[in-house]
Amino acid sequence: MTKTVPPALQKMGLDSPMALVLHLPMRYEDETELLSIAEALELGRFRSVQTQGVVIRNQVLFRPRRQLVVSIEDAGEVLQLRFLNFYPSQQKQMAVGAHVRVRGEIREGFQGPEMVHPTVRALAPDAPLPKSLTPVYPASAGVTQTVLRKAISSALKDPNIHDLLVEFLPSKLLAELLPSHQWPNLEAAITLLHQPPADADTQTLLDRTHLAWRRVQFEELLAQQISLKRAHSIRQKRRAPEIVKATESGSKKSIESGLLKVLPFKLTSAQDRVWDEIGHDLSRGFPMNRLLQGDVGSGKTVIAALAAARAIDNGYQAAIMAPTEILAEQHFLKMQEWFEPLGVKVVWLSGSLKAKEKRLAQDLVESSEAQLIVGTHALIQESVHFAKLGLAVIDEQHRFGVRQRMEIQQRIGSELLYCHQMMMSATPIPRTLAMTYYADLDVSVIDELPPGRKPITTKVLKASRRNEVIDGVKEWLAKGLQAYWVCPLIEESEALQLQTAIESAEQLTLALPNFKVGLVHGRMKSDEKAAVMAAFKANEIQLLVATTVIEVGVDVPNAALMVIEHAERFGYAQIHQLRGRVGRGSADSVCILMYAEPLSQAAKERLQTLREVSDGFVIAERDLSLRGPGELLGARQSGDAMLRFVDLQRDAWLIELAQQAAERLLAEYPDLVEKQLARWLGSRAEFLKA
Ligand code: ADP
Ligand code: MG
Repeated sequence: MTKTVPPALQKMGLDSPMALVLHLPMRYEDETELLSIAEALELGRFRSVQTQGVVIRNQVLFRPRRQLVVSIEDAGEVLQLRFLNFYPSQQKQMAVGAHVRVRGEIREGFQGPEMVHPTVRALAPDAPLPKSLTPVYPASAGVTQTVLRKAISSALKDPNIHDLLVEFLPSKLLAELLPSHQWPNLEAAITLLHQPPADADTQTLLDRTHLAWRRVQFEELLAQQISLKRAHSIRQKRRAPEIVKATESGSKKSIESGLLKVLPFKLTSAQDRVWDEIGHDLSRGFPMNRLLQGDVGSGKTVIAALAAARAIDNGYQAAIMAPTEILAEQHFLKMQEWFEPLGVKVVWLSGSLKAKEKRLAQDLVESSEAQLIVGTHALIQESVHFAKLGLAVIDEQHRFGVRQRMEIQQRIGSELLYCHQMMMSATPIPRTLAMTYYADLDVSVIDELPPGRKPITTKVLKASRRNEVIDGVKEWLAKGLQAYWVCPLIEESEALQLQTAIESAEQLTLALPNFKVGLVHGRMKSDEKAAVMAAFKANEIQLLVATTVIEVGVDVPNAALMVIEHAERFGYAQIHQLRGRVGRGSADSVCILMYAEPLSQAAKERLQTLREVSDGFVIAERDLSLRGPGELLGARQSGDAMLRFVDLQRDAWLIELAQQAAERLLAEYPDLVEKQLARWLGSRAEFLKA
């Protein structure tokens, strides 16, 4: 065995030669080219360039803050270097008279062209240039590139590495799948990526489309596909309650049919169809894993209620979980309204309950007295033990991270009997994600809004017309209708956000003396929030001033006007969700987006799109193309998501190949499957089960 890996590297998970070898460059630096300062000044405006010279000035300035300014000279041309943070050792390295080689981009500073924070090396003018690209590795604090490069290149020489990287994939399979490609074998690909030869194609190495990258990406996708298919077959082997439509006899009526009777509307045909799909899943004896997708206002809640009713009819508990307190409360109130007349015990469970109330709720859950449990992620805390959970519904599933979704399964499921899971979301999943991270998720789509919905008219107005808007609100309220006034998102300061909301509420109270103005914001206690929401629902409050706490799920049909202040600060999805609060009743609905100038080009386009487009799927697509899939997977875990070298957009075509290869491997070469998983996924395989 080779010498032990330094602790700093171990901390990064690079604890073996294999881990080091699979730690591939995140990018490359082209140090093969050395320009004169004159050339650098010309060519370095849009790309990083390398040049060199003798230090002729080295000064610490205090204008406006402490900084190091160094000038280097070569053949009569001078280049200025500027360092806003620096160490004494750097000052010394760049002492007057020293010869340095620097690389960076040139930009126009106050005193002419300069490089800000270039990489600097003290090298003789004739020090040889590298012949190939220099890899740059992902690193954590305190680990230098030099240390990484050394460790990786010695790992590549480890006597075991050849065996570890040995080609698993049968050449016959590769040849069939990729007849037109001469793919390098794995070891060759990996070696090339670490130590690109002088004649390797620079561009494709940099943009990760080089065949060596393709090979690695394919391997990684293959491991992911295998693992997804396995997760799927594991799920199918698990047992879950067979929840079927209850048979009714004489006086014994089912809760499901009772619910259908009390609903003030008929299901749309899209709702009928998804309810069929879900009903079928529930009856099959293995855990459902289904996403119910439908635009804001398409009526997902009632489907959740029907599924819950059926579970309860079969003697099981059902749980509905929502990401925010306010949304969970809305569900709770709705479920109480629908279910309590049918004799179903509905229980509320959230983090904000007092200890005593919480214990009481937990007891009800544990004793199976609670039949329908609604709440926030307090539902999946350690102290909650479901007696007989048959169905868990997770609303706005994308708001929960991968980790939390895993927790749901682990906390709620039991080894003997798993529960059915149904997720709900207004955000469509793009095809590439559906084929990868979400591949073991069945999807039902409600593609139709309930009848009688009036389209929402969206208007975009300058903030300077605020008084006109307030007059409009007054006329609106005078018609007996209600309205929302949404206060701006202030990301830097929650306190400031609160302050603006309070000020707006005061100003609107003065401007609208004949109406009651209410205020709801994130800092309120949940019972205070609930009281305000209940008053708004009962039309005791006519104008509700709110911070973004009302973003999802709130449902007051008589409120058909929404004013959003500083709409330019909101993203696509937020505005779409927000305005989905209106347009639920019979009145014509209006959403007014007020904006302050100056407006960035992006904000201008966003507001314009929102004015013209009301289809949530179209909006979500625009949104995704801007933000990438990380957002959907849950912002934070996209970083440790399993695909390290694959970019789903760029490498979409590889996914299908990997899918076919995975099928073939599982069917024809089962002994290779484990090896492939262990090599590429290690502990990250867990993520796939969520
Ligand atoms: P979302 O899909 O955004 O969660 P909701 O379930 O909150 O939508 O439904 C939005 C509104 O539409 C609610 O007021 C709900 O009662 C109503 N609704 C749902 N289904 C129908 C239907 N088939 N006909 C009429 N109204 C419906
Ligand atoms: Mg909803």
